[in-house]
Amino acid sequence: MPDNKFYDILGVARDASETDIKKAYRKLAIKYHPDKNPDPAAVEKFKELTVAYEVLSDTEKRELYDKYGEEGLKEGGAGFSPDDIFSQFFGGGGFGGFGGRGGRRGPRKGEPLQHNLKVTLEDLYKGKVQKLALQKSSKCPDCAGKGSTSKDGVKKCDDCHGQGFKVIHRQIGPGMVQKLQSQCPSCKGEGNVIREKDRCPKCKGNKTIQEKKTLEVNIDKGMKHGQKIVFPEEGDYESPDIVPGDVIVVLVQKEHPVFQRDGDDLVMEHELTLLEALTGFTFYITHLDGRVITVKNPPTQIIKQGDIKCIYNEGMPGYKRPFEKGRLFIKFNVVFPTSGQITPENAKLLEKILPKPKPVQKPVSHDGIDEEAVLHDFDTKQHSHSRSSAYDDDDEDQHGGHPQGVSCAQQ
Ligand SMILES: [Zn+2]
Ligand SMILES: [Zn+2]
Repeated sequence: MPDNKFYDILGVARDASETDIKKAYRKLAIKYHPDKNPDPAAVEKFKELTVAYEVLSDTEKRELYDKYGEEGLKEGGAGFSPDDIFSQFFGGGGFGGFGGRGGRRGPRKGEPLQHNLKVTLEDLYKGKVQKLALQKSSKCPDCAGKGSTSKDGVKKCDDCHGQGFKVIHRQIGPGMVQKLQSQCPSCKGEGNVIREKDRCPKCKGNKTIQEKKTLEVNIDKGMKHGQKIVFPEEGDYESPDIVPGDVIVVLVQKEHPVFQRDGDDLVMEHELTLLEALTGFTFYITHLDGRVITVKNPPTQIIKQGDIKCIYNEGMPGYKRPFEKGRLFIKFNVVFPTSGQITPENAKLLEKILPKPKPVQKPVSHDGIDEEAVLHDFDTKQHSHSRSSAYDDDDEDQHGGHPQGVSCAQQ
């Protein structure tokens, strides 16, 4: 499905000529121009027109758009949004009352610096203050970040007249000029230069020094793996007109040997012997804050393999509501005795205690021949993918379709 939006906005056909596009745009631009038509809907419409025209009047962009739609334009490095274009058209803020200024004005902010902080489940349960040492660029104290300590040490860049950038004008339509800014190469966008002899001795004209800074990270009770803690503007100092970026600490939880976390709940496994499962038990859990919890199960309460029980209010504390705790789930694994651990005498004792099995009646054999089978051990992992390896190939038809365990017992 080709994306036809921009053609529709200008009301032209896909194969419209450059002249047709220009004409269509001019006609609509006059109609919706914010000078004449301050209605917000018209302003929106005018923005759309402008974006559509900007693309369709440019051979390269039109080709990308025809092939890939709007997605294709994003990757081409054109890097524009309606607001950007809009502010270029109107000198950025000529019009009060509608948001065409984009996000470029005001002091620029540096890139955020991300730091992964490893924490234990105990830290997240109890809360903790973790000191984090950072190496960062700070404003040079000797020259106050100017790069020179002498009075006239910092000179305006002649190349860009102190602007830091050069402006290129580009005609993009009838009566429409696009302004493009590019960084001044002489001063690297700073707008000023410092002569060798005037450079600050401490920072050598760099305006910054390397410094060690310790941040105190407050790990609150109930915080989660992946949670971000932001230290605004604690990043590197670059220059007086760039606000340092934020330092973002991301919590990375180490695995716990006993507990797994599931939201505000905790999950653990506990092994029981068959005797414990049948006759009750007591065991102890050392919790994340060091408390010991006694867990008791009375003799009349039988636990089966895979049973899950829960203890209320022994899960994780809620974030920002630490008195509300989740649940602690305990999954039980019952370990059966191994062969040989029950003697024939003891089996007789068990027979007396355990529920009797249903009586078994031997059916009448079809051909009057009795056969007896032996149960072999069977490793499902080893045989699950290659059925024939366990049997003679000649036999395969007879076994076809039967689960392997059944076939094995018949041999
Ligand atoms: Zn310059
Ligand atoms: Zn300095």
